[in-house]
Amino acid sequence: MHEMGIAEQLVQIALDAIPKDIKNPKVDIIHLKIGKLASVVEHSLTFCFEIITKDTALENARLEIDFVPVRVHCKSCDHSWEVTGPVFQCPFCKDGDVEMISGREIEIISLELEETP
Ligand SMILES: [Zn+2]
Repeated sequence: MHEMGIAEQLVQIALDAIPKDIKNPKVDIIHLKIGKLASVVEHSLTFCFEIITKDTALENARLEIDFVPVRVHCKSCDHSWEVTGPVFQCPFCKDGDVEMISGREIEIISLELEETP
């Protein structure tokens, strides 16, 4: 289950991102961007996240995951398109000189802090 390692990294980044001048910060929602090729299983990630964030500012925070489609770009004819499987040949010029431009990212887009009275 590689989600544990991913969750640990995300938690570290999220904790570092919380402004230090906030007293008893509580994170409400964490917006994530995850590429479809990153092969992250959402419920595994949520599960790991819940374990790691116990007793931190992230405890009970909700994960809002935006799954990013896999897009590739052909360096020969400059077309970009979305792929759903591991087909990495350009359908426009039939060249093989393609590069992936999205699909493997695992990023935190933003954190929403809970309003504290
Ligand atoms: Zn092409």
